[in-house]
Amino acid sequence: MSFNDTSLKMQRPILHLLIALSLFPGIISAQLNTSNPFNQLNELLPTANNYRTASGAPGHEYYQQNADYTIQVELDDVNQKIYGEETITFHNNSPDVLNYIWLQLDQNQKSADSDSHKINPQSLNNQEEISALKNLKHDFDGGFQLEYVKDLQNKDLAYFINKTMMRIDLPVLLKKGESFSFKIKYWYHINDRIKLGGRSGYEYFKEDGNYLYTIAQFFPRMCAYNDIEGWQNKQFLGSGEFTLIFGNYTVSITVPADHLVAATGTLVNKENVLNAEQKKRLENAANSFQQPIIIATETEARDREKQKLTTKKTWIFKAENVRDFAFASSRKFIWDAMSVKIGDKKIMAMSMYPKEGNPLWEKYSTKTIAHTLKTYSKYTIDYPYPVAWSINADRIGMEYPMISFNFGRCEKDGTYSERTKYGMISVIIHEVGHNFFPMIINSDERQWAWMDEGLTTFLQYLTEQEFERNYPSNRGEPYKITEYMAGDKSKMSPIMINPESAYQLGNNAYAKPATALNILRETIMGRTIFDKAFKEYARRWAFKQPYPADFFRTMEDASGTDLDWFWRGWFYSTDHVDISISNIKNKKITDKDPVMKKEMEKSEHSKNSKTMSSIKNKMEITKTYTEMDSTLQDFYSKRDKYQADEDEVSEYKKSLLNMSEEELKILNQANNYYEIEFERIGGLVMPIIYELHFEDGSTELIRIPAEIWRKGETKTSRVHVSDKRITKVVLDPYLETADINTENNHYPREEQFTRFEVFKRNNQTPQENLMRKENKKQIKP
Ligand SMILES: [Zn+2]
Repeated sequence: MSFNDTSLKMQRPILHLLIALSLFPGIISAQLNTSNPFNQLNELLPTANNYRTASGAPGHEYYQQNADYTIQVELDDVNQKIYGEETITFHNNSPDVLNYIWLQLDQNQKSADSDSHKINPQSLNNQEEISALKNLKHDFDGGFQLEYVKDLQNKDLAYFINKTMMRIDLPVLLKKGESFSFKIKYWYHINDRIKLGGRSGYEYFKEDGNYLYTIAQFFPRMCAYNDIEGWQNKQFLGSGEFTLIFGNYTVSITVPADHLVAATGTLVNKENVLNAEQKKRLENAANSFQQPIIIATETEARDREKQKLTTKKTWIFKAENVRDFAFASSRKFIWDAMSVKIGDKKIMAMSMYPKEGNPLWEKYSTKTIAHTLKTYSKYTIDYPYPVAWSINADRIGMEYPMISFNFGRCEKDGTYSERTKYGMISVIIHEVGHNFFPMIINSDERQWAWMDEGLTTFLQYLTEQEFERNYPSNRGEPYKITEYMAGDKSKMSPIMINPESAYQLGNNAYAKPATALNILRETIMGRTIFDKAFKEYARRWAFKQPYPADFFRTMEDASGTDLDWFWRGWFYSTDHVDISISNIKNKKITDKDPVMKKEMEKSEHSKNSKTMSSIKNKMEITKTYTEMDSTLQDFYSKRDKYQADEDEVSEYKKSLLNMSEEELKILNQANNYYEIEFERIGGLVMPIIYELHFEDGSTELIRIPAEIWRKGETKTSRVHVSDKRITKVVLDPYLETADINTENNHYPREEQFTRFEVFKRNNQTPQENLMRKENKKQIKP
């Protein structure tokens, strides 16, 4: 999904209550163990076992459940309803004997008495929430209406519904390796997505009286049952997405005869639903690798908009090894397609959009899919499915296997803003990218939003930068996260939190993990090593269900890098990076030269005569013992303390002769020792990256690994020897570490003017300001 924090201010207070109630043990123990940022993570991670190994790979007893679906649905375009009948075959691959199974009725989140209406704190405090008063009533009932739940012998099955979930009690125990088939008949009202929101629903176009449907969560689906959770038991409240298992689907979708349908999987009855022209164009598209081919034109779509046929057609799609199924249907659709070569496979990249999306969509959508499949495949595994769709749906970005619903509409005159263009390309990259995380690398979205959103957003950034030089990416660069990281910690959650409980979900689950991975790749591990480990994670967990520990462990195991400190800081805490250069000390080399040594002692001892007590003693002690009794005096009493001893000098000269050439070189060249002191003000430990600037204009970049802080210090220092004078030191000069305060990154300090200060400076004195105003007045007619 795509998520922008600024557009969702209203939801923030909702989460306030939840977070207080839902601190999970990980966070509590994280607090107990932050005494040293380099403590190992083992105490926070689940113990490795035969299902999930300590290396982060699936273990030799790893299992996952499967479910196959045969579904017939009819889309009622007059009343906006879905009628469905499905047969589910559930395969128990677990070692456990099951006496009941759980299904997800996610559509019940749209029922009138849904918990998602009740968990929002309400108040009359401000304008914003008063405007929300109109939403206090929830009349729309879009939950599932079940007609029956039967076995294949037409015998009713015992079941009960708990909000968005349903438990079916099995007539006989289901053992390992056994399957159970059953049928469900149901219907529901489709929600108006523009008025009521939601990931699925319809959009109504009042200009031409037509609907555009993007339909998902439209059938009761199996819950996951695994070694981590048993049966998934977290209800669907809206923010936490889906926990799903793989299976094969055959779905027949009956719609008005002039609708075009896009769906998860391959269309298997082209001859019944496409005309000769469309079939021919589709064949051409299968061999067009540079430019999309229009399968259904805008002119044809405009004709269909007016025609409004009432006859019906049934489109049949088959999909193998997918974790979900979604479709889109409308008579408004324009359709284009092109072929993409990934490995030795040809994949159809296709888009459907209403005329309201043009000319932007025909120019960019399908090519963006093609580009996304190529880059994501490069960093993970080759895209394994036969098709990838991008469907134009106003205001959302939402992903399903092989199909995604993406925003981006043009003005009525066909123009579009720069923001609309890049917003659309970015959302398509993101949602098509979700085909990899979580559709193939099937993480548990209901529990861990960052595992699909963070990883997808990270690759989105790489894909955007390969799309166009200096592409205006919103997320990825470390400096873009600093404002969030420097913010109010009481309104911030660690990445390791459930999406329903997270503050600022867009920053928490998208921007921060994406930035953290980018920093790992560029600064901590390096591109080559990072890419190898990341690819290994994708390879290991493709078509399996990974959890956070599997990711953390694989990234370490496949790269040979202990990253526990990084996960601990960036994923388990809300700490930020702020490292400062606190001081630079400059010392001339003294070595063992006795003359130099005496000089230094002299300057040190000269302080003694300046102390208050020595001044008082001079006045108050008229005579010391040795002054009164000369027999107490000897050689040392009379000698010049700061004169170098002749023996020592000749000894030193002799030692110089014994010095190696290299030692002599250092002695002669190194005029300056510089001790640079660093302070870790922010909680996060990070590498220290700094640039030395010399008097001759040359520079040197130094990279110190984060392990310099390994004892948990907050202060540290490094020494540089140079025959050139250092004039300046700059910390993090390439903005790699998300350091929230760059003012303390310069030594000597450089003033950094905010825009407001620059404005003030440019306006100079108050008198000049006044004059300027006067001039303006004069210019006015
Ligand atoms: Zn997303």
